[in-house]
Amino acid sequence: MDRPFTGVIAVDGPAGSGKSTVSRRLAGSLGARYLDTGAMYRAVTWAVLSAGADPEDPEAVAKILGEVRLEMGTDPEQPDTWLDGVSVKQEIRTPEVTRAVSAVAAHPEVRRVLVAQQRQIIGPAERPQGIVVEGRDIGSVVAPDADLKVYLTASEIERARRRSAETAADLEATAADLARRDTLDSSRSTSPLQKAPDAVLLDTTGLSIEQVVDRLLTMLAEAAGRDRR
Ligand code: C5P
Repeated sequence: MDRPFTGVIAVDGPAGSGKSTVSRRLAGSLGARYLDTGAMYRAVTWAVLSAGADPEDPEAVAKILGEVRLEMGTDPEQPDTWLDGVSVKQEIRTPEVTRAVSAVAAHPEVRRVLVAQQRQIIGPAERPQGIVVEGRDIGSVVAPDADLKVYLTASEIERARRRSAETAADLEATAADLARRDTLDSSRSTSPLQKAPDAVLLDTTGLSIEQVVDRLLTMLAEAAGRDRR
């Protein structure tokens, strides 16, 4: 890149598609910030479970959402998530949170509040530093004007293999959890997981992280070249 990157890159896709690792590496190589929007839904879920509330109950969830202060660290080297000033980066990865997060993320009020916060973090179009944002609805809802929109996917078995290697959980149980979350995330009525029509589809099955990042950097350079013409 000949100039510092000041734009927005939206990386969407299902769990285990390689979004987090790819997005962090991409942000690092561009000198950009990184936002993990899944961590935001997980943090709210952690707060709901800690309060002993029902993740399916929209009023109970909205009440807790209104009471907590959620802050996101956007350094791709050390992303962090704080609730009321306390880091919850470990807690939000527990199986309990993973099981409940899709129910919490389906409540329209949760999406309204978190999407507004995500747009605030992304900032105005004229920003000093770019950002790579990963999630499920970034290209379609949160940042429809992103400079590059990518939809990462991979075969079900590859996604389950990657996730179980990360969490040391049983492969079959991981595959079942991914399939359940995919169904919930794709079928909810408010901003479901979907590929934006103008997003580039990239199947990462059999590709290394480096290969995926290289392809995205090439796409970005091509898009920048088109804009200059
Ligand atoms: O990316 P991660 O697997 O950590 O996301 C956890 C959950 O958060 C997803 O399964 C989905 O229910 C929700 N999510 C969402 N919209 C986003 C990011 C995550 O609904 N933009």
